[in-house]
Amino acid sequence: MGQLELAGVRKSFGTVEVIKGVSLDVAHGEFVVFVGPSGCGKSTLLRMIAGLEEITDGEVRIDGSRVNDLPPVKRGISMVFQSYALYPHMNVYENIAFPLRVEKMDNKTVEEKVHRASKILHLDERLKHKPGQLSGGQRQRVAIGRAIVREPSVFLFDEPLSNLDAALRAEMRVELSKLHSALDATMIYVTHDQVEAMTMADRIVVLDGGQIAQVGTPLELYHKPSNIFVAGFIGNPK
Ligand code: ADP
Ligand code: MG
Repeated sequence: MGQLELAGVRKSFGTVEVIKGVSLDVAHGEFVVFVGPSGCGKSTLLRMIAGLEEITDGEVRIDGSRVNDLPPVKRGISMVFQSYALYPHMNVYENIAFPLRVEKMDNKTVEEKVHRASKILHLDERLKHKPGQLSGGQRQRVAIGRAIVREPSVFLFDEPLSNLDAALRAEMRVELSKLHSALDATMIYVTHDQVEAMTMADRIVVLDGGQIAQVGTPLELYHKPSNIFVAGFIGNPK
């Protein structure tokens, strides 16, 4: 469960190719971080894995099966975005429960799953609060709760911490690492923050202009960058 494979994946918008043949194997339970300059295709690649963007060429496979034509809800994947929209009129419980309501799950199962998710995220004391009564970090945890409540085997995060201040980001980094161990899920995490990449990743994928510049563990990339671009991005953190 949660094994992910990209095979020669390409994406064009009109005549412009923005993802230029990306191949990557991600093992079950791995924490893989995508880094690269703005516009290099990180979000597009995640959206293709999630099923939110059509794949022009190549294949995305989950647990060995091609999922190119499967709708997002059938892929066993949840995605957390940079700007997360919570429903202001719903309390924390209902915000987290929302994806299960959409699937018309029965109340008892919803309750079990929401409680399990809120416990992991330390939100169990906040279930009756409305988003407006929460701190920024708590709100982001609710957004993550909404992603984990469906208990997918693959999580995609697109710069989920970039709207938070530095102290909160540091705290959430630790929380997300704990979450990763607690869920035993595969995670693909996009960031432009080198510290996040170096501290959280099992492996880092450096993207440049829609292609993979290098893949390796944080230490491999730090000590043996394969070119100047990677060295500039990872090898010399400021
Ligand atoms: P990143 O997340 O790394 O900043 P994106 O994946 O958002 O990069 O964008 C990669 C490239 O694709 C950029 O040049 C961007 O302008 C282009 N792009 C993204 N989405 C669209 C779209 N819907 N239509 C046309 N071009 C797009
Ligand atoms: Mg992006």
